[in-house]
Amino acid sequence: MPYGYNGKILHVNLTDLNFEIETPEEIFYRRYIGGSGLAAYYLLKNIGPGVDPLGPENVLIFTGSVVTGAPFSGFSRYTVAAKSPLTGGFGESEAGGYFGPELKFSGFDAVVIKGKAPKPVYLWINNGRVELKDADAVWGLGNAETLDKIREDVGDDKARIASIGPAGERMVLFANVMNELAHANGRCGMGAVMGSKHLKAVACRGDAKHLEFADAEHVKKLVSWHNQRIKEHLPNQNMRKYGTPMFVVGLNKAGILPTRNWRESVFEGAEKIGVPGYEKILKRNATCYRCAVGCKRVVETAEPYHVNPRYGGPEYETLASFGSLCGIDDLGAVAKANELCNHNGLDTIGAGAVVAFAMECFENGVLTAADADGRKILFGDADGMLWLVDKIVNRKGLGDLLAQGVKRAAQKIGDKAQAYAFTIKGQEIPLHDPRGKTGIGLSFALSPTGADHVETPHDTIFVGDAVKLLAPLGILDPVVPLALDEAKVHFFKQGQLSWGLNNVLGICNFVDAPLFALSYEKLIEAVKAITGWETSLWELLRATERSEVMARIFNNREGFGPEDDCLFRRLHEPIPAGPLKGQRIDPDRMKKAIQLYYEMMGWDEQGRPLPAKLHDLSLGWLMETESDG
Ligand code: SF4
Repeated sequence: MPYGYNGKILHVNLTDLNFEIETPEEIFYRRYIGGSGLAAYYLLKNIGPGVDPLGPENVLIFTGSVVTGAPFSGFSRYTVAAKSPLTGGFGESEAGGYFGPELKFSGFDAVVIKGKAPKPVYLWINNGRVELKDADAVWGLGNAETLDKIREDVGDDKARIASIGPAGERMVLFANVMNELAHANGRCGMGAVMGSKHLKAVACRGDAKHLEFADAEHVKKLVSWHNQRIKEHLPNQNMRKYGTPMFVVGLNKAGILPTRNWRESVFEGAEKIGVPGYEKILKRNATCYRCAVGCKRVVETAEPYHVNPRYGGPEYETLASFGSLCGIDDLGAVAKANELCNHNGLDTIGAGAVVAFAMECFENGVLTAADADGRKILFGDADGMLWLVDKIVNRKGLGDLLAQGVKRAAQKIGDKAQAYAFTIKGQEIPLHDPRGKTGIGLSFALSPTGADHVETPHDTIFVGDAVKLLAPLGILDPVVPLALDEAKVHFFKQGQLSWGLNNVLGICNFVDAPLFALSYEKLIEAVKAITGWETSLWELLRATERSEVMARIFNNREGFGPEDDCLFRRLHEPIPAGPLKGQRIDPDRMKKAIQLYYEMMGWDEQGRPLPAKLHDLSLGWLMETESDG
């Protein structure tokens, strides 16, 4: 019998409103493990190249991993994946919270959803029983009302629910999937895919006790060791004390806080939107399933921007996207934008980016008051920002244009807008300036999902002696944040495997190696104790590479090539002011670094994994899939 997982995958066909259960062998789980690995497998197996991401042929996957739901701090993340309507390529997004473990307890390791329901439905999985239920009563509602009504409908106030808001129903291309109102699968437009399928929510409930661990006593011992170490470990203490809002002032001091649509990298209002300003609205900490860190925030603000604390509080990416990127230093307004996004189901990175793009268009006369009901929305206009978010959710006027994301909106506005439109592979950019940490530049350019800030640990952490944290990955020389040389490419490649492992296993980056309390050694001990597998870091990193190669092949089939592995104009220009004034990323050096990465990965100069690499990773079956394309 499987330990730590169910050995069951649920396949749902929404068109026919039926389902079936697959019971893969252990070797399947060992090869694909979960998260982005399992998702990439099912996307490649079920979607041919060229399908419409918002058509019934797209496949939507919810998946944890073989260790999801084990009672370790941070083993709570799960993946939602599909072909992305934003990029047209591999789409996946992870979230913490409570849904991932509950899905596992409900009896399934993953749910693979095909087709399109004739009318709105939600999926209810209760201790192995599966039902598609009418969602008429919740279609059109925000996430809080949806959660309350579905719990009432299934008669269980502990049911865990991942849902879309009105933005997903209206297929805003950067719509997200929310669980428990404050945890978002934000990136790649997974909410729009869910909306296109008339699927309002997945609700689940199960008994954690039915999951057995291979060595339950050892799991218990390791959990208690990990939680104790979290209490004593300075980086984890800081995460608990300040949460991700602490990054605002840190990045601003370093001169790499994206400001006014990437025009600047230092924001004069950083202290107002980050810590210490944030402490004034902080109501309490929150956490994810069984996590002793508890870094999540719940805020309460005064008029005029009263926010509902059920929707949590803005994290770093949201503070920077609606704050510095839009030139707004009013934390109440930023918290309100966060609430609006969580209520309506919008990715806060995408929403902030599209608002900042519009603001720069207004500043330069590319958009005018005639485009926005007489308003001219400039940087710093908090009410204008909230007005635009509302228009995007409702797809009204300019909001309907912006709901298509920065890339498509700029194409429709015309040539002049292109100067202010920044995306990678069609995905809006997370709030980290690679001119101060070039490994993040590689991450933005090479992530299969378009710009991604959680693709690899950030360079700035591993300067000097701190590099010893990376020794288990074979990185022995200190990392130089501004260098873009062979050593940096190697650092990025190994770091990508390390955080990629977190995506495959569904583990939060804030609980484990290289920076946080759980070492690589103890992580492997945990996987062994949960699954009973005699495994190693080497085997698990191979599974991670397998997942990366599958995502790459998915994109290759869709026509992505080296020209898509790039940054955007402003990163090749010098930073205008601040501690890193003059710093830029040379495009030719970037191209060389990317070619070197291909070589290190065993890919050809077009970025296609070579047949030998596929065989090396037991992915020979992908050679047929590739030639299909
Ligand atoms: S560290 Fe924070 S984000 Fe990560 S699992 Fe714990 S509470 Fe959630």
